[in-house]
Amino acid sequence: MNSIPLRIRLMTWYAVILAVSLSFFGLVAALGMRGSIDAMVDDQLQDRMTAVRSLINTNLAGGATEENIRLLLQRNFELRLGDDLLQVADNDGRWIYRSPSADHYQIPAGVVSDHPATTPQFGPVPVRLLSGIAEYGGKQYQLQVGTGMDELQKATARFRWLSLLTIPMLLALASMGGYWMAERAISPVDQIIRAANSITVNNLASRVEVPQTRDELQRLSETLNGMLERIEMAFKRIRQFTADASHELRTPVTVMRTRTELSLRQRRTEEEYRDALVQNLTEIEHITILVDDLMFLARADSGADGVQHAPVDLTAVVLAAFQEAKPLTKAKAITYLKEIPKVPILVRGDSQLLQRLLLILLDNAVKYTRARGHITLYLSSGSDTATIKVSDDGIGISEADLPHIFERFYRADKARSRESGGVGLGLAIGKWITDIHAGEIEVESKLGVGTTFSVRLPLTENDVTGKKALGPEVDIVRLDSF
Ligand code: ADP
Repeated sequence: MNSIPLRIRLMTWYAVILAVSLSFFGLVAALGMRGSIDAMVDDQLQDRMTAVRSLINTNLAGGATEENIRLLLQRNFELRLGDDLLQVADNDGRWIYRSPSADHYQIPAGVVSDHPATTPQFGPVPVRLLSGIAEYGGKQYQLQVGTGMDELQKATARFRWLSLLTIPMLLALASMGGYWMAERAISPVDQIIRAANSITVNNLASRVEVPQTRDELQRLSETLNGMLERIEMAFKRIRQFTADASHELRTPVTVMRTRTELSLRQRRTEEEYRDALVQNLTEIEHITILVDDLMFLARADSGADGVQHAPVDLTAVVLAAFQEAKPLTKAKAITYLKEIPKVPILVRGDSQLLQRLLLILLDNAVKYTRARGHITLYLSSGSDTATIKVSDDGIGISEADLPHIFERFYRADKARSRESGGVGLGLAIGKWITDIHAGEIEVESKLGVGTTFSVRLPLTENDVTGKKALGPEVDIVRLDSF
């Protein structure tokens, strides 16, 4: 069924529903017509029966002989009856009076129709017949009034035939109309499909035309365009990322190549060769960090598979990160402090990733703080979140740079960052780690005054409800890297 085009399916449904409705209408109309004709005829017969009875009663009170009755009916009804039937018989079935049309209908005496009337057929024509018993002068008589139903039945038959002919014609007309309407409604969809099909990687900036119809089709086109917008942005980001990554990799390789070529151009002292090799090693270390970070982000982009979601004691993680960063601070004679509660604080997540996040923030704090500066690491827990803060009184970040520092390869000061070993991916990784822990990362900074990064993580349910017991499954942090 699905391979049948939508417009045909719509038309078929429309036709089927219409066919059922029209047939039902035809049936009800035919039955209704028949019923109202019978009711109308019955009323007339009833009136006639009443008229006959009262005529006899008023005119022949006390002296109702059969002859009198016959004469009375002949005089009063014969002309008015036309093709209608009126016949009176005595109790033994002998005719007293029969209207001129009686031979035509051939209704025998004694046929008693149930109330209100029936339609028997004895002769060539069916008769709507009403019969009753009347008593005059102590004797019982059978009264029968009736009317031929052939014309009326022919009319209902004509109506039936007319319906049988017109319903299929109406159906065909309506189906064509339905097809036309479905075609009209769906043709914009075809346009949208054609437009969407023509959009490829090479013309991602193209958009589907939006019909100003304020209906589902307008919403569909707008939704498609919104999706294209997001795809285009994602593509731009990927292109930018690839270009940045290639550039970042090419720079140290070019530097190493030039240095090596220069060293080999003429004979050098052992000291000079050694110098060149040491400098190349620094570049290689830079490339290693870069490749490591790129691989991390590539894995991150392909999903959060392999990320642990176990209860983690954040206090232990923060303490471990504090210890690990200590040698870096010592090298710059930085005053390095911590404010960490002595109780376990439980969050759900991956302890090694959380430690990596803290090391990124601490490493940055050291990199962007002058010698003999100050760095403090805080940990606290509120009603349902734990907050980690890394605060330094380093060079700070300008307002213009602040919105971008979590972007990949964004560096406020390229030269300074590269000099201190930065590849511009640390905070992008940090943001990803915070996100997969359902947390938030924020930065407050003032140029020349210092910077504070705050990470808020949701506490595990155990900790929120105050049950601070560390279960046996709590992941105690390991100091080696992710
Ligand atoms: P990088 O490898 O360059 O440090 P990050 O992604 O870690 O890359 O940081 C992005 C940029 O944010 C850095 O280049 C730097 O300009 C700025 N930055 C990050 N942390 C700090 C900080 N504590 N103080 C000043 N600037 C910072």
